[in-house]
Parts: sequence; structure tokens; C-alpha cells
Amino acid sequence: ASSISIRSLHKAFSSKMTALDGVDLDVQPGEFFTLLGPSGCGKTTLLRIIAGLEQPDRGSISIGGRLLDGVPPHQRSVNTVFQSYALFPNRNVRDNIGFGLQMQRVKRQIIQQRVQAMAEITKVDDLLDRNPEQLSGGQKQRVALARALINEPDVLLLDEPLSALDAGLRGQLQVELQRLQRRLGMTFVFVTHDQQEAMVMSHRMAVLHEGQVQQVGTPQVIYEQPKTLFVARFMGHQNIFAIQQRNEDEIVADFGVLKGRFAAGSHILLREEALSLKAGVVEGHNRLTARVEECLYRGGSTEYRVLCGNARLTVRSHNLGQALFASGQDVTIDVAPEAVAILP
Ligand code: ADP
Ligand code: MG
Repeated sequence: ASSISIRSLHKAFSSKMTALDGVDLDVQPGEFFTLLGPSGCGKTTLLRIIAGLEQPDRGSISIGGRLLDGVPPHQRSVNTVFQSYALFPNRNVRDNIGFGLQMQRVKRQIIQQRVQAMAEITKVDDLLDRNPEQLSGGQKQRVALARALINEPDVLLLDEPLSALDAGLRGQLQVELQRLQRRLGMTFVFVTHDQQEAMVMSHRMAVLHEGQVQQVGTPQVIYEQPKTLFVARFMGHQNIFAIQQRNEDEIVADFGVLKGRFAAGSHILLREEALSLKAGVVEGHNRLTARVEECLYRGGSTEYRVLCGNARLTVRSHNLGQALFASGQDVTIDVAPEAVAILP
């Protein structure tokens, strides 16, 4: 496994279209590192530059301490798995997986053994004689993965490899891919626009926005302590409010007043899963009175949209047998300290 360091990377496709705008990143050896961001933020461009398929305008990439300026793709120990499988249609699964080793003129017998071993790891060993058109989407992606792993690259790049799959299969492959990475200990750079997927899979992740890295950290840090409004919204937080006034021991925002000594910042975030509701008006420390507007029952939890002061808040409540609240009902929101994060 190798480290990757990316320094001051710039790439513009035209004077108006800057795809990467000064990207600095360090990926550790053996890390499952994810690039997360909306469509068009520069994820694919960054992967293509790491692979050597695209030249940066400025900046540099090193893998395992080796500077890759001008090094062509096939001389980098990097393989890529794309969203659109890109298998050779006229070769069977066995030959697709073994292709990289054939190119390196590895002995036939050794290729056979390694294809068999890799096919077992990726669970396609019963499909070796089929052609790609006889495979499902999930099977094709397993074959693409086996083909990319067979020559043991230092780094595997994965560009939204699961996004063409339906939800159930996708969840299953997320688990398998994560297990595989932990087992092989190889450095993975994984791209997705899905924040849930990024959190499930990654050791660390970088959130990209318009060609810039907004924040790098573990899933927990990115979710619990977002540094920017963009990151907070992209991670799915709904209760984000401008801080109108901050006194020594309280904060004022559209929803009302919260007591406590809070860090300085522009916005306050209330985590919907850490708020709790009580029926009626209940006085107490950091309790806000509100009225339920909408209830979205989701089985294990219910999402309540409530009107609180001049703000609309979302509260996610676990359904553990207690009575549900109804729209129109007066409630009290209990704001626990751990529900609050301040955006700097
Ligand atoms: P992502 O993978 O995050 O969706 P991309 O890296 O594909 O983003 O694209 C980043 C930006 O660069 C987009 O606005 C896209 O339109 C533009 N772009 C990407 N590739 C090219 C290209 N070959 N020519 C012109 N513009 C491009
Ligand atoms: Mg892309």
C-alpha cells in the first residue's frame, strides 16, 4: 500500500470552467479514502489526474513518495474501476480478469491460479466461462473489481462504482468492498456523490465543492462537526440557522434562545436525531415550545416538521412504542447539549 500526496492541483477545461481549484490532499497507506461531492465538483477529474489520464495545469501528485510528473498511466501502479464496468465484451470473465497479467507476460499457469484466487475473493469464481453480456450489473462490477485488483496495484481508484446498481445490491456491495479493502490493506480512493455511502465505507473522506476541498476528516468528524455551511447541508443536516446574537451565556436564532457557552461562529446546527419531543408545554433548561406541522412515519423513526419561534425544525424520533405526535399538536423540544454544533 502506498501514500498519495496531492499538492496545489489546478485544472481548467476553459477560462470559465475550473474543474479543480487548488486541491491539497494526503491519503495514508492502506486507507479507504473517499472523495464526496455533488455532480460536477471535480471528483472524476481528480481521479483521472491521479491515474495519469489527464494532465493538471499546475500542481503535483506523488504516490509512495515518487513524484509522478510526466509519468504515463501504465507506469503508475494505479488501477481504476469505473461506474460503467468497461469490460471487454468479446472476452469471457476469466480473460477479462487475467488481462492485466497477460499484458505483463506472466506465465499462463500463474495467471490461471491468480485469476482463480481473485475470482474467489470477489465471488465470481462460478462465472469464469461467461461473457460480460451474460452477467448482471452487480456481477459485472465484481469482475471489473477483480480485473483491477489482479496485478496488485499500490492504489485502486473507484469512480462511483456502485451508483448504477439498485439499492439492495448496492448496500451489499458496500459491505463487501469495505471488507475487501480491509483484508487487502490496499490504498483505495473511492468517489461517490452519496453521503451515506461515503460514511459507511471510509476511514476518512474529503468533501469537494466547485473544485475545492471543503473539509477532510473521519465520517464522524465530517458529520458531527461540519466546518462550512455547504458541508453541513451536503451531509443531510436540516436544522441550520444563522446566529443572530451571541452573548456570553446564550445564543439567539430564529427558533429562539439557547443557554450555554458556545463557540463563536456564523451558524448553529441542531442535529435532528439528538432532539427529543415531549407532549404539551414543559418548562425547563433549553426547552423550546413548538407545534407539529407534519409527521413522516418511517417505521423505525418518525420525522416531525415543527414550527418553533420563527423557524421550521426537523426532529427525528425513534419509534419505540410510545405514542406518536399528531400534526397540530403543541410540543416541547428538548435540546440536549450534544444536539448542538456551531459552524465556524
Ligand atoms: P464530477 O466527477 O464530480 O461530477 P467532473 O470532474 O466530471 O465532476 O467535472 C468537473 C467539471 O469539469 C464539470 O463542470 C465538467 O463539466 C467539467 N469537465 C470535466 N471534464 C471535461 C472535459 N473533458 N472538457 C470540458 N469540461 C470538462
Ligand atoms: Mg464523475
